[in-house]
Amino acid sequence: MSDLIRQAAALVDEARSVTVLTGAGISTDSGIPDFRGPQGVWTKDPAAEKASNIRHYVSDPELRRRNWERRARGELWRDVVPNNGHRALVSLEARLKLHTLVTQNVDELHQRAGSSPDLVVEIHGTTRKVGCLSCDWGDDMEVVLARVRAGEADPDCPQCGGILKSATVSFGQSLDPQALRRAEKAAKECDLFLAIGSSLSVYPINETVSMAKIAGAKLVILNAEPTPYDRWADVIIRDSIGDVLPQIVGAEPATA
Ligand code: ZN
Repeated sequence: MSDLIRQAAALVDEARSVTVLTGAGISTDSGIPDFRGPQGVWTKDPAAEKASNIRHYVSDPELRRRNWERRARGELWRDVVPNNGHRALVSLEARLKLHTLVTQNVDELHQRAGSSPDLVVEIHGTTRKVGCLSCDWGDDMEVVLARVRAGEADPDCPQCGGILKSATVSFGQSLDPQALRRAEKAAKECDLFLAIGSSLSVYPINETVSMAKIAGAKLVILNAEPTPYDRWADVIIRDSIGDVLPQIVGAEPATA
């Protein structure tokens, strides 16, 4: 075990209340590409980033039809399963140290690994659910995909006829204010903040890092690339999340 991992593990041992922020890096081992890293989807294909903008989604029915068709065919994130990184955070919860698990990911892999849904804040929403852009209607993604498979190219809201979209926060959409408040509160109340697999470049959730430090928490950053918040960190680790995170949080070595 390296010195940095030992230091981070000691901070976890000493902590009573840990808030975790996860980004795309924790899910890449599950086969979900990250977006902003050197090999990221948007780094290599800026047009894909444009397509995820809410204005394009609303104004371009063809874009929506293609999107629903790809989802219905299972082309987006088929068969993804949680990895050792997700499982390590379940161990942290089992040690009764987890305050809140804030994630920028929309894959629900934390919940599927076994993290309590009550402790997970999905700051950018989830692709496993669908919402109406005009009213409060929502349902599971599979319910809407069944309509697509039955022949509806661009299914509309059963309540108001509005445009449906996966319940993720697209560019140009506001965050759920309640989710953001929970994330900020968790940052201010913890005594250790773990930032895992996030470039910490996305506003405003990245600001929870400095909120935690200003409130007196220790900070561990585990990410492949440098982040704008590295100077705030007590420990910075750049190794593989799936290898390192179980050691940091004291998880049993995974057999799967
Ligand atoms: Zn509606």
